[in-house]
Amino acid sequence: MPEVKILKDICKGCGLCCDNVCPENILIISADTINSNGYHPAMVTDQEKCKGCGFCYMICPEPAIEVYK
Ligand code: SF4
Ligand code: SF4
Repeated sequence: MPEVKILKDICKGCGLCCDNVCPENILIISADTINSNGYHPAMVTDQEKCKGCGFCYMICPEPAIEVYK
């Protein structure tokens, strides 16, 4: 099963991965979470829907997303 992992303490909360990049629309900015650098990180809403396409990984300006196929 493909899996996407957000490294929440590296994420800068820019939202690029959440902006119509994911074909399954499973990435959002977590309004309820603040990471160790003070940013609201991205989170995965439904891991089982991830197709492992890597689009989120490619657009992220930080090394904050890992995708496993
Ligand atoms: S790997 Fe593809 S399907 Fe999975 S979260 Fe990233 S953009 Fe969405
Ligand atoms: S693109 Fe990267 S840094 Fe920006 S919100 Fe997504 S995971 Fe965080």
